Amino acid sequence: MSGGSFAMRRGSVLCGAMPGPRHIIPASPRIEPATVGALAEAARLIAAGRLVAMPTETVYGLAADAGNDAAVARIFAAKERPHFNPLIVHVAGCAGADRLGRLDDRAARLIARFWPGPLTLVVPRRPRARLSLLVSAGLDTVALRSPAHPVAQALLRLCGRPLAAPSANRSGRISPTTAGHVADSLDGAVDLILDGGPCPVGVESTVVDLCGERSRLLRPGAVTLEQLRAELGEVDVGADETRPSSPGQLASHYAPDRPLRLNATEVAADEALLAFGPAPLTGALVTRNLSPSGDLIEAAANLFAYLRELDRSGARAIAAMPIPEQGLGLAINDRLRRAASPR
Ligand code: AMP
Ligand code: MG
Repeated sequence: MSGGSFAMRRGSVLCGAMPGPRHIIPASPRIEPATVGALAEAARLIAAGRLVAMPTETVYGLAADAGNDAAVARIFAAKERPHFNPLIVHVAGCAGADRLGRLDDRAARLIARFWPGPLTLVVPRRPRARLSLLVSAGLDTVALRSPAHPVAQALLRLCGRPLAAPSANRSGRISPTTAGHVADSLDGAVDLILDGGPCPVGVESTVVDLCGERSRLLRPGAVTLEQLRAELGEVDVGADETRPSSPGQLASHYAPDRPLRLNATEVAADEALLAFGPAPLTGALVTRNLSPSGDLIEAAANLFAYLRELDRSGARAIAAMPIPEQGLGLAINDRLRRAASPR
């Protein structure tokens, strides 16, 4: 099954790219000092939908074009994330952020005071933002940050597009603060590592949620709660149980309006079919195939968009064909189970 393309082992590996041919990824990623030439190559790789590790002032980030579904799916594959956490979208500055999210007075104050810097703002996503749905894990919000590191800034400006960049480590491992840490953790899964020396802050950015009326600290970091309160007044701390801000932790999240049933082996005429692989079931009212070739990276890239489409198709219910429980299939199935679980 070509979805096994996700399995990135040590040694020379085949990585199923989407769309187009398969690419050989070298066994050990190249570490390059962040020269003008290396930055130009990094920008070319990102434009081609590939992954580049970049230094930021917090930790090294695994960067990809935030508008490219397949590139964002590749991030989840490289990190071996068992589910789709929303990713932080990096922008050069306020103008870039304003195109992607709705920035209110609070956001404007925090940006003026702390950007560029180790502060991430979760804000409502603009409906027409040119961003992958996967980057927000299907939420209507987006996490935005403008990093202060000169290499990250240079790459953002060269690329001229927002970059999705979670920490450049395998899921559940310690965040990397040197180029060597990235190479140890991600080996063949990253196309180029830009070496900008050790990260000066060394812990992940502060994340503050500005989507509700009350501001909320979701993750502590170098910008402190006291500093946030000095700008905003009251700031709540911790996850808001009433809102799906961290979808990975909720049993039911981004559920479609139509009922969803999993592991379908037959489909009714009034159902919409979320198919996978070369032999989709027949007889559905409408069908969207996540990946006719069985490529799990392609399937992850299409998941949220197709779920939304089928939800609006007029069908009574949605039936999803089985997805293999391996590689990105774990994250896809995690998401489908949440979408199917009773609310
Ligand atoms: P990392 O990408 O590893 O630095 O982690 C990103 C952090 O930001 C995680 O804790 C996410 O849950 C959080 N995050 C990113 N996007 C959103 C969002 N749209 N809503 C809430 N939290 C978010
Ligand atoms: Mg992380």
